[in-house]
This record gives sequence, C-alpha cells and structure tokens, in this order.
Amino acid sequence: MNKKQRTMLVRIIIAAVLLIALNFIPVTGWIRFLLYLVPYLVIGYDILLKAGKGIRNRQVFDENFLMAVATVGAIALALLERSGDYTEAIAVMLFYQVGEWFQSYAVGKSRRNISELMDIRPDYANVERDGKLEKVDPDEVEIGTVIVVQPGEKVPIDGTVIQGSSSLNTSALTGESLPRDAKEGDEVISGCINMTGVLKIQTTKEFGESTVSKILDLVENASSRKSRSEDFISKFARIYTPAVCYAALALAILPPLVRMAALGLPADWGTWIYRALTFLVISCPCALVISIPLSFFAGIGGASNAGVLVKGSNYLETLSQTKIVVFDKTGTLTQGVFEVNGIHHNELEDAKLVEYAALAESASSHPISKSLQKAYGKEIDRSRVEDIREISGNGVIARVDGVEVAAGNDKLMDSLGVPYKNCHSVGTIIHMALDGKYAGHIVISDVVKPHSREAVQALKASGVRRTVMLTGDARKVAEQVAGELGIDKVYSELLPADKVEKVEELLKNRSEKEKLAFVGDGINDAPVLGRADIGIAMGAMGSDAAIEAADVVLMDDDPMKIAKAIRISRKCLRIVYQNIVFAIGIKLICLALGAVGIANMWLAIFADVGVMILAVLNAIRALFVK
Ligand code: ADP
Ligand code: MG
Repeated sequence: MNKKQRTMLVRIIIAAVLLIALNFIPVTGWIRFLLYLVPYLVIGYDILLKAGKGIRNRQVFDENFLMAVATVGAIALALLERSGDYTEAIAVMLFYQVGEWFQSYAVGKSRRNISELMDIRPDYANVERDGKLEKVDPDEVEIGTVIVVQPGEKVPIDGTVIQGSSSLNTSALTGESLPRDAKEGDEVISGCINMTGVLKIQTTKEFGESTVSKILDLVENASSRKSRSEDFISKFARIYTPAVCYAALALAILPPLVRMAALGLPADWGTWIYRALTFLVISCPCALVISIPLSFFAGIGGASNAGVLVKGSNYLETLSQTKIVVFDKTGTLTQGVFEVNGIHHNELEDAKLVEYAALAESASSHPISKSLQKAYGKEIDRSRVEDIREISGNGVIARVDGVEVAAGNDKLMDSLGVPYKNCHSVGTIIHMALDGKYAGHIVISDVVKPHSREAVQALKASGVRRTVMLTGDARKVAEQVAGELGIDKVYSELLPADKVEKVEELLKNRSEKEKLAFVGDGINDAPVLGRADIGIAMGAMGSDAAIEAADVVLMDDDPMKIAKAIRISRKCLRIVYQNIVFAIGIKLICLALGAVGIANMWLAIFADVGVMILAVLNAIRALFVK
C-alpha cells in the first residue's frame, strides 16, 4: 500500500465511524445537517474539487461530476424535504471511494507483480580493478570491459565468456525453466542468473544496448500502444456520460411536468429528482474504464512470463485474430546451425575451400556464414580479407589473399556468369568461384528445431487456417523441410524483396478479419516483419533489426511459443469482451430499474462497486495461461 492508499483508507474509516455514530445522535434541523456534512466532506472533498475543476476546464462529464451531482443533489433534496435523511448520500460517496481504493490497490498490486516477474534489471556490474572486485553502475561499463559474475548474480551486460563455466537460469527471459550451460567462448545475454560457477565475461555491448535494457524498454512502452477495444472505451465514455446526464435531467423534469399538465396530478418533484440522481449514480462507467486496460496489461504480463514479449495491447488484439502464419525457414523453423556434409568437384584441398569460404564470410551475420566460420575452426585473420560485399539472399563476394572469392547459391553464380555443377545431395549448396572460375561447392545442412513440427500442429489446433513457409534456400531443401513439418504451402528461392511481395500477395487474398502473422529471425526478412499484420521475431538468435521491427518477440526462439502467444491473446481478449458485456449489461439493467423507481442509490452503488470488483478480478485472470 502506498501513502495515498493509506490516507484514503484512514478517510474511509473515519467517515464510516462518524456516519454510524451520527445515526445514534437524535438531533434535527440545521445542526443535524452540519454534523452530517463532516463525514461527507471527509470522504468526498476531493471528488467535489475534481468535479469543480472539470467544470472549469469544460470537461464536465466524468465520473467525479456524476458522483458530485448525485450526492449533493441527494443532500439538497433531504434538506428541502426536511426528511433529514443524509445517510444515503454519504454512504454512496463512501462506497464509491471504497471501490476506487480497491481499484487502485488491485491495479498497483498487479502492476507490481508484473514488474516483479520482470525483475531482470541488474543493479551493478563487478569490474576487477587492481585485483579487487568493484561494483559499478552497469551504465558506466564500456564495451570490451571484463566483468565478473558470481553465482547467484544476474548477468548485467551482454558479452562473451572468457573464463569459467556455469549454468545459467534464463527463466526470467524465456519462461523456460531448463538451465542453459555457458563455457568459455559462449555468448551470454544479460538478464540470466548465474547459478553455479564464477564467470569472467568480456562485454560486447553497452548496457543500454544489452538484452535487458531492450526488454525493459519494450515492456515499459507496451501499455502505451492502445488497442481498438481501448479506443472503443474512450469513445464510448465521451458519448455515454453526457447522454446519461441529459437522460437524468429529462427524468427529473419531464415526468412531473407531464403529471401536472396532462394528468392533472401533483407534480411530485422530490420522487423524480431522487430517481434522476439514482440514475446518475448507477450510470458511473468505472468498471469498464478501469478493467479494460488492466486486462490488456495483465495479458501482456502473462505473455512476458511465458517468454513472449508483446509490444502493445493492439498487437495482442491482432494476435488473437491470427488465421495465417507465414514462416521464414532458416533460423526460424530450423536451427540455423549448418554442418558441412560434403565438398564436391573441388580442385583444391577441401580444407582450403572451407578456409576461403570462411574468410569471405567473415563479416556476414547470416547463419550460413557463422556455420562456415565454425567449420573452419581457426581464428579468422580479418587482415587477409578486403572488399567484402554481401548480396542478401545470394551470398558474398570478397577478396581473400588477393583472390576474388564468391560464395553463394545458383543465383550468385548466374549473376557472375560462372557455370556451376548441380548437386544431387539434398542440402543448402554453397557454390564457390575463385577469380571467376568455378571451384566446386560445399554442401551444408541444417536441422529443424525440435519443436517445429509440434509448433505447426499446435497452430492448427488453435485455429490457424493456413501455414506458409518462405525461404531463400533451394527448392529441394525447402520442400523437404516443409513436408517434414506439415506446412501447407512453400515458396523457395526468394530474394528478400520477393518475400515482401509474397506476403503482400497473401495479404491481398484473405479477408480483412483474418490476420496474417510473419515469423522470422530478421536476417534477410526484417522488411517482411514490418509488412505483415503482426511480425514475430526470434529474440535470442535474431538480429537487433528484427527485434526492432517486430511486434512480438519470442525470447527463446522456440516456435511452440507462437501458438502459446495466440492462446494468451485469445484468453485476454475473451476477458476483455466478458468485462465489456458484463459491465454494460448490469449497467443497463440497473438504469432501467432506477428510472422506474425500483432501484435506490444503495443498490446502485453496490451494483457499481460489485461489478468493478468482479471485472478487476476477472482481468487479473489474464496473467495466467497454462
Ligand atoms: P531463408 O529464407 O531460409 O532464411 P535467406 O534468404 O537468408 O534464407 O538466404 C537464402 C539463400 O541465399 C541461402 O539459402 C543461401 O543459398 C544464400 N545466402 C544468403 N546469405 C548467404 C551467405 N552469407 N553466404 C552464402 N550464401 C548465402
Ligand atoms: Mg532467414
């Protein structure tokens, strides 16, 4: 509980005690009025002030105004009619404040829960100076500094392990409870918790560019992007509140006039004004206004618990309507870790060909390049390489030891006019040309991720109509992978621009209601991530560009998480609609009862606070998805 909530609680208790006490004191007339004014002002002064401010700023119609008019009106009525019954107006204000208090407490609590779950922000980094460890602000650590992470500490900054081995708990980042091993030479991302051994890590990024900072930025900014349901609420409130105010005014004035003029009965102003005031109390739309954003917030929190970062409530809404899922192949459905399977038609020594390939690829971030560098196995001497050009979706050209090396697919060879030999093995073929002469090819192959097949099935089970795979790789490999995974349709040998075109074609041939998601690792597909209705990026392996361009980021690159994200979004949206229907439904019933005089203010306020509490509790359910 914060200070504001504590003060409010004290005010609630004082007002309640005074109100009960006053019921035992038999005073009448002005003294009674003044005595009752005390608890009323204790509990309601801020509402009156806010209503006054609203009127001054010409933003009259809000819930403060509704409460102020209703309670002041009820007190005035009691005064005029000399009934001395002020209890009701005060109780209405009291319960309203109890509701507000509960709401701020619940919202605060769930927000805090979510940030606790996301408790990945490191407080310090250990830097070794003169043989002693010093705690410094992670923001001040420069790239290339060696930091020490002891067991139990969070890895504060992204880097490479230079000494030690340990297992890392990544659950705060990925929702995965399985620990990940880290040893010398491995890259580690910030936000993991070091569990067993001491690690010396050389940082490769600044803190602000590290994984933790990126994630925290995403989560903090997520709630500022509004979804259509939230828009609906603010539009609704803008029309609704003035509408009920005028309806209340009509209810107070018209029936008495009709009674007098047309029916010749006494006007009975008191009854109708009371009904109008009750009508105002009932009409307060707080349950709706608060529970919708809270539901989305909880949904985003629940998703990030599971290792899925959703950048805004609008994306949660789109995700829930996803019917077509388009995948990139390499790095998304496959691991993007290629093994060299064979080297054919080679004039040189095999090792020499791999060496040329690895050196030419030394500047590329493509999984193929990483794998070739690994196959080479030795330190890469960058001074031997110059004039590197990467042609995305084709390959690379570079000058290595003065030799013009081209490494890439058929398209690259065609564009250079180098005749190449076709390969009969299934795999990704890296043709090599040295000084414009064909020098054989390296066959490499990739493995599908362990969950890819299950992931495609899970998507089907969760109502996705169509799955499509796009790849720049050769047709043979593409069809083999698609067949193995049960993908509906595959397009191969695409350049990055072709991928955008294909997605646009798919977007054109579907109905507006069916949303299309594209899942990729951002290498050669970042533009597509932006073009799809919803772009889902692989966060751990994916490039920074992907994380930037995507709307949803999967922290541990597990394609199973796509179906999970869709399930979470569906549940969240279901809760949102339940709350909208429930709150508006109860409102309308109570309004009707109030207008005909069945509901009094007591019932009205109980209905309102009750609906709000139920809606908030319902919203919190969005945090939890199996
Ligand atoms: P995917 O769509 O499967 O992710 P990409 O569009 O990234 O594939 O690449 C398509 C093809 O382009 C690869 O299969 C490979 O033949 C070739 N290619 C792309 N980048 C490189 C590279 N750095 N070195 C060699 N070949 C490459
Ligand atoms: Mg790719």
